[in-house]
Amino acid sequence: MDRPTDLRRLAAEEFDLLVIGGGITGAGVAWDGVLRGLSVALVERADFAAGTSSRSSKLIHGGLRYLQRLHLGQVRQGLRERRVLELVVPQLVQRTPFLFPRFGGRHPLVRAGLMLYDILAAGTGYPHHHVLPPDVVAEESPALRETNGAFEYFDARTDDARLVWTIVRSASEKGAAVANHAEVTAIDGRRVTVRADDDTFVVRARSIVNATGVWVDAIRTLDQPGVARDVRPSKGIHVVVPASRVPTSSALILPTPDGRFLFVIPWEDSTVLIGTTDDDYDGPLDDPRAEEREISWVLDVVNDALQSPLSMDDVVSSFAGLRPLVAHGGLTKNLSRKPLIEVSSSGMITATGGKLTAWRPMAAAAVDRVLEVAGRKAPSKTDETRLAGAASFEGVVPALEVVLDDLRLDRSHAPRLYHRYGSHAAQVLRLVGDDKTFGERLHAELPYLRAEAEYAIRAERARTVDDVLARRLRATLTSRDGASSAADWVRGRLILSG
Ligand SMILES: Cc1cc2nc3c(=O)[nH]c(=O)nc-3n(C[C@H](O)[C@H](O)[C@H](O)COP(=O)(O)OP(=O)(O)OC[C@H]3O[C@@H](n4cnc5c(N)ncnc54)[C@H](O)[C@@H]3O)c2cc1C
Repeated sequence: MDRPTDLRRLAAEEFDLLVIGGGITGAGVAWDGVLRGLSVALVERADFAAGTSSRSSKLIHGGLRYLQRLHLGQVRQGLRERRVLELVVPQLVQRTPFLFPRFGGRHPLVRAGLMLYDILAAGTGYPHHHVLPPDVVAEESPALRETNGAFEYFDARTDDARLVWTIVRSASEKGAAVANHAEVTAIDGRRVTVRADDDTFVVRARSIVNATGVWVDAIRTLDQPGVARDVRPSKGIHVVVPASRVPTSSALILPTPDGRFLFVIPWEDSTVLIGTTDDDYDGPLDDPRAEEREISWVLDVVNDALQSPLSMDDVVSSFAGLRPLVAHGGLTKNLSRKPLIEVSSSGMITATGGKLTAWRPMAAAAVDRVLEVAGRKAPSKTDETRLAGAASFEGVVPALEVVLDDLRLDRSHAPRLYHRYGSHAAQVLRLVGDDKTFGERLHAELPYLRAEAEYAIRAERARTVDDVLARRLRATLTSRDGASSAADWVRGRLILSG
């Protein structure tokens, strides 16, 4: 299906379920719903994952920090999900070693926390944590100043925006009508007004799930004017620096002065992601930015552990996201990441809070409510159904290397393509077979081929330069100059594609 067809369907059909919001929560609800036999529509105001779901730390994890608050059930759920996601979307869950460096003392509490993490992860196939001696730490992470060794444990990285797109694509392939750049502007019972491409139409649905993250209260107000606030946003920022400035093959976890942890996560594209913060936020919800003082705070924390301190000049890019935490008193960093599933008196279901990692159980809980209201029963199948492109590394990469050889392209693209597209990587390379110029890189500083941008436009519903460069690819995070130089080429292709 393509977007024009889906827009026509949105205006013409009556759906069992309309999902508002195309972040991880909305994508998950749409996927869970179609797998349970519902006819599903999904509308997203901006691009899929343009909200918080492209601005996370990009970890699939239980969350060591939640152990401090004794949210054990939540940690266990995250660790279980880590395993389930490895099975249903292996290309987007990369096991990664993490080091907790010891600069003095024995850190008995950290050790106890890691032992508990191991216990809660029992049966998920992850190795237990262990202690590394100083010389091995220096080898794995030359960026660190001298240590007394480190604790090593394992968690997983993902690409949040691609995970969301992969779920949306999977739902679309099973029949959901999905549209990005389609905004809900009014709700009248089960008739929802949507604006897309200078056109306005009504979508009719028997159930509505409001999955708009930090914007849920605006949608709740459209449904029932005057409702009380559910969401309390908390802001977190990240910075990206060149890998050459923080040489490390393992990710690092460093304690912060406010009792949390900061992650330093190396990526294959020669950059390192560092974050995050956790502060109450009452500014505008659209497009929050990392402030200079927040960036300085992050650099100060990480510099305490590094041999060669980072400065503002090292920062390639920065971004900020807003956690849709469920409102109650206290500091946001102490608030639980438990999701909220609420049914309004008009019957609209709001699903918010939670974590990227736990999208599946949250989606299942929301669809359970949809079925309850409809008086129907069907079990969730997202734990046993593989997402689009799901395939093992061994099943894809050797074959990709052969294709790359045939196309006279570097074999080093193969693992990277696998981790973005899984088995669909072959479709991306087919574009190069048709037109050799798509085999060129988007820019010398970027790892991406032009074929990847073209594929985003032709097959992944990208409609703006940002959809392509910030979310289907991660160019805007990786290289400021590279992304701005590539923008013209991408713009030209978007115009050609109409
Ligand atoms: C700094 C930070 C780091 C994090 N790190 C991690 C992590 O490493 N691991 C983890 O598991 N979790 C992490 N999280 C949590 C996770 O990112 C969020 O819980 C999750 O992304 C929220 O997704 P969502 O779909 O509910 O909201 P969003 O992703 O914000 O999606 C809501 C969507 O609704 C759309 N929308 C709004 N209004 C309308 C409208 N009127 N019509 C149509 N659409 C509309 C928006 O455009 C948006 O795309 C982190 C969060 C932050 C802020």
